Amino acid sequence: MTSGHLNGELAIVGWLEQAIGKLPSPWILGPGDDAAILRQEPGHDLVFTTDMVLENECFRLGEAGPALVGRKALAVNLSDLAAMGAKPVGCLVSLALPKDEGPGLAEELMKAILSLAGQFNCPVAGGDTNTWRGPLAVSVTAIGKIPAGKAVRRHGASPGDLLFVTGPLGGSILGHHLNFMPRLDLGAIIRESHASAMIDISDGLSLDLWRLCKASRCGAMIHAERIPISQDAHRESELHAAGLRPSTPLMHALNDGEDFELLFALPQENLAGLMSTWPASSPKPAIIGRCTNEQTMLIEYPHGLIEPLEPHGWVHQFGQK
Ligand SMILES: [Mg+2]
Repeated sequence: MTSGHLNGELAIVGWLEQAIGKLPSPWILGPGDDAAILRQEPGHDLVFTTDMVLENECFRLGEAGPALVGRKALAVNLSDLAAMGAKPVGCLVSLALPKDEGPGLAEELMKAILSLAGQFNCPVAGGDTNTWRGPLAVSVTAIGKIPAGKAVRRHGASPGDLLFVTGPLGGSILGHHLNFMPRLDLGAIIRESHASAMIDISDGLSLDLWRLCKASRCGAMIHAERIPISQDAHRESELHAAGLRPSTPLMHALNDGEDFELLFALPQENLAGLMSTWPASSPKPAIIGRCTNEQTMLIEYPHGLIEPLEPHGWVHQFGQK
């Protein structure tokens, strides 16, 4: 909740306090003091997550523009809350602004953050604004709540559990990584349906499935033809067709990062309950396979060919795998 020491920063902080206004309950105090105050709600656990997006590593400011960068900085955090089955409570936003940019950059970033925050009832309770001689960095810390003891973690999957993804995968570099919708509503429904493990797909299905399996000490058998492949995965494959490393749409669906769909495991007996509470407005989740007790990941192709599935994911270097 500190402010910078330049007039420009003070102006931004003043503008922000105005833009944010009074926070809803259970917040007792928002921006404008030394720290924000949140009253704990009995019967709930609070969950915390933080994520930083960096210019030239996670985005190019000239290509994405400040609004989509601000939106993404909050959205990746909301996706992590969704992956626990949590409901947002609020967030803190810290900006490291390049000195040669005017205050307009902070305003555009914050407008986009406040807009998404409003959409998901996740008020901005504070943060920090500084300028420096480096590139833009935006760090968001999000707070969520979950009925006590009910968070869905990565480690609870058992052999035999069904594996699901909530939407099409691959090719997010073409734009989806900047404008995706965090799956908060679905995360809560999945939690209420007694999923055994969950993770958001930030680094690619193959790598995030590997993380879930490793935490759960199980393996997985997935079926290539059941993996939902996005239009952008097809487009990416076409773009690579003439290049040095041709790729299939399936490869993009398995290994590209930043889809921000949810991957979860659910005991078979909970399937009917999940489907009966799934919102009609959302496409049904795809059952891509099952957990196994092998401790390896396998992928079955049509015609019965089975191969090991290697975790090849996104390494958070812009445009590189
Ligand atoms: Mg995550």
